[in-house]
Amino acid sequence: PVSSSVRRGLELGEVFIAVKTTKRFHQTRLELLLDTWISKAKQQTYIFTDEADEALQKRMGDHVVFTNCSAEHSHPALSCKMAAEFDAFLASGLSWFCHLDDDNYLNPQALLKLLSSYSPARDVYIGKPSLNRPIQASETMLNNQTRSVRFWFATGGAGFCISRRLAVKMAPWASGSNFLSTSELIRLPDDCTVGYIVECKLGGRLLPNTLFHSHLENLQLIPRPQLPQQVTLSYGVFEKKLNTVELAGPFSQHDDPSRFQSLHCLLYPDTSWCPRPG
Ligand code: UDP
Ligand code: MN
Repeated sequence: PVSSSVRRGLELGEVFIAVKTTKRFHQTRLELLLDTWISKAKQQTYIFTDEADEALQKRMGDHVVFTNCSAEHSHPALSCKMAAEFDAFLASGLSWFCHLDDDNYLNPQALLKLLSSYSPARDVYIGKPSLNRPIQASETMLNNQTRSVRFWFATGGAGFCISRRLAVKMAPWASGSNFLSTSELIRLPDDCTVGYIVECKLGGRLLPNTLFHSHLENLQLIPRPQLPQQVTLSYGVFEKKLNTVELAGPFSQHDDPSRFQSLHCLLYPDTSWCPRPG
């Protein structure tokens, strides 16, 4: 889309941001997000987790959703959370659904800039393709026979967004218990299931976008001047090493191993805990 097609006035208030987490990451991962980017998008952000946590509830109020999903890294447990995110978005009436993992940094202004070039009244599914080719899966049909299907999907670990119009069409496969049943048809994780619904059930297409990043790519390769334009970033283990964006400071590797605090100070230098510029 060219800049002349940018829709005026898309506001963060039209975006529903869902962050998936689990009890054991509330302190180790979520606190960092609350202190950084979530502080800039608190009204729009909902945390989906599996166990009650008073400290978290104090900070996020009714923006923390305690799903009854099990605290496991199994396909069903993760699909259960994705379904909860999806249902909460449908109920919100907002224009855009964006999913994030708890090791993602979201830049709300970069997100708005991106989404404002699309209409939520069109079918939009945008994110980072997980592979450089479509995934092939074996789909179980009603008669229990299987057939091979191919589709693209956005990797959940880089975050992705879906327009309301598309989400409404996805509901028969993605809402409530349908999401789990759908994911069982292809026996793949939740993010693959989203791609399968969009491409195989609805004939839609993933819009690949290079501004979304997971820790399964070398994050050091993003040039520092381009960091402020990225929609999502991440940190984590890649090829047995800690993979983070490259930023010299202001915080040390020791104090800020994820580099998210340093990144936040690059984007919002006036933050109280950032060193004074100059
Ligand atoms: N996660 C979860 N339940 C689990 C394990 C992980 O909800 O039992 C969430 C986690 O909080 C994160 C996402 O799933 O948002 C991906 O987890 P992680 O980054 O640990 O794994 P990866 O797939 O990136 O290796
Ligand atoms: Mn991860």
